[in-house]
Amino acid sequence: MPELPEVELTRRRLEREVVGKRIEVVKVRTPKLRLPIPGELETVLPGRTMRSVGRRGKYLLFDCEAGSLIIHLGMTGFLRHLPDPLLPGKHDHLDVFFADGSLLRFHDPRKFGTVIWTSGSPAEHPLLSGIGPEPLTSVFDGSYLFRVSRSRRVAVKLLIMNAAMVAGVGNIYANEALFRAAIRPDRPASSLTPAECERLALSIREVLLESIEQGSTYRVAEDTVAYHPLEFDVYGRGKGACTRCGGALEEIRLGNRSTVFCPSCQH
Ligand SMILES: [Zn+2]
Repeated sequence: MPELPEVELTRRRLEREVVGKRIEVVKVRTPKLRLPIPGELETVLPGRTMRSVGRRGKYLLFDCEAGSLIIHLGMTGFLRHLPDPLLPGKHDHLDVFFADGSLLRFHDPRKFGTVIWTSGSPAEHPLLSGIGPEPLTSVFDGSYLFRVSRSRRVAVKLLIMNAAMVAGVGNIYANEALFRAAIRPDRPASSLTPAECERLALSIREVLLESIEQGSTYRVAEDTVAYHPLEFDVYGRGKGACTRCGGALEEIRLGNRSTVFCPSCQH
């Protein structure tokens, strides 16, 4: 499932591949994913040029001159730029054809993705306006985390996975950041000290940046685009040994998501 690093890598790749291209034809093949795909895309996009590819949380923002195409990859969404378009398959829901003959294609087998259009500022769109600070910006730091956690008794892992608190930290990176910060995921958020908040904010930033640098779990090969598992310290290693102390990791459910931690290293 694409998390923030995968979405950021997609953004960087598409920035190189589609910015400056003029849209000629748009084909909406599926009326509804998680939300309906606006049919108006077929009439409003042609003639416009893609000016930039931005990101807010896990949403990709394609600035198309006086309007933006906003795409969320959901669980299984892929965006590919194809210089020589192949015929669309069953799970290819949206095609944006450019004047140079190439194509931007949205592929999503499980259909949890989202494609919307706004003629206003994307930041003010109802789906995006409530998203908290970006974890890779200076606005997100230990003092911010300390401030927003004071009145919240919810488990700290659920606090950092709440997009209104911080943008785009999903299950993988929440597990990894808490391990690195040596904080138990089920601690009430309000019990964190300023020093722990500092450590946690730094760990979140580090695990996201390292994942982006390593190419993340997202690999784009010649013909295949897929998410491949990377090696993590705790995520997906519920029956394994701690990489720090060698002890047995513990697996619990928090917010119905798998949560793995080391009872010896994390307090
Ligand atoms: Zn340990």
